Amino acid sequence: MSNPFVLQAFGVKKSYHKDKIEVPVLRGVDVNITEGVVTALVGRSGSGKSTLMHLLATLDQPDEGEIYFRGHRIDNASRAERDSFRNNDIGIIFQFYHLLPELSALENVLAPIMIHKSAWSYFKTRKETRQRAEAMLDRVGLLHRATHKPSEMSGGEMQRCAIARSLMTDPSLLLADEPTGNLDTETGRDILKLLRELNGDDGLTIAMITHDDAIAEQADLCYRMDDGVVKSAKPSMQVA
Ligand code: ADP
Ligand code: MG
Repeated sequence: MSNPFVLQAFGVKKSYHKDKIEVPVLRGVDVNITEGVVTALVGRSGSGKSTLMHLLATLDQPDEGEIYFRGHRIDNASRAERDSFRNNDIGIIFQFYHLLPELSALENVLAPIMIHKSAWSYFKTRKETRQRAEAMLDRVGLLHRATHKPSEMSGGEMQRCAIARSLMTDPSLLLADEPTGNLDTETGRDILKLLRELNGDDGLTIAMITHDDAIAEQADLCYRMDDGVVKSAKPSMQVA
């Protein structure tokens, strides 16, 4: 049988060091992200959610433990391999969108592709790339804002733009760190609806971090983080 897990973490530990004092944040975390499933990782502020997300996205490396993407170990892979994983296999979105303020929505969606391709290869494919960026903006309901800069968009629109950007490389896994954390309840619900559509219609696997139980309940499966470990992995509606 093929491995149903897109991403797996085993015994992941991570500490930060401040003035020679060790601050353990993750004390041995095990997580399985299943193909085609929306998984929530819920925990209060400071419980280590973003730390774990950074490790899962290979933006940082664990002190101990192992992380696998489709059965292939990634936490100790070479820098080039981790860069390729981030650029090609996963999409990432954040609470504060991380859009470039000087660029329009369309340019923001194009920016990662322009950075990662050589000037010549971008030039050769620029028409198709631009069409894809427009299609992604359309997919998230933001094509009418293509020429608008982030300062001219609402929080929900900025998050839609960030989602469009994350989809440019057709990732199979989306990692979302508090995707609704900066939005009012209703706008947050709209963003979650969009994520659920991307999961249902396009088969996108989603791992979503949140401090909000109401958001976590919308996921198919929920892990609760507490004291640096994952305490339970239950269907989301049964979260204690
Ligand atoms: P969450 O996303 O659940 O709010 P974080 O992963 O951001 O939690 O942080 C977990 C703990 O680690 C917090 O106590 C935070 O202060 C600490 N921490 C996070 N990043 C760093 C860092 N770069 N250096 C030192 N401590 C950090
Ligand atoms: Mg966080």
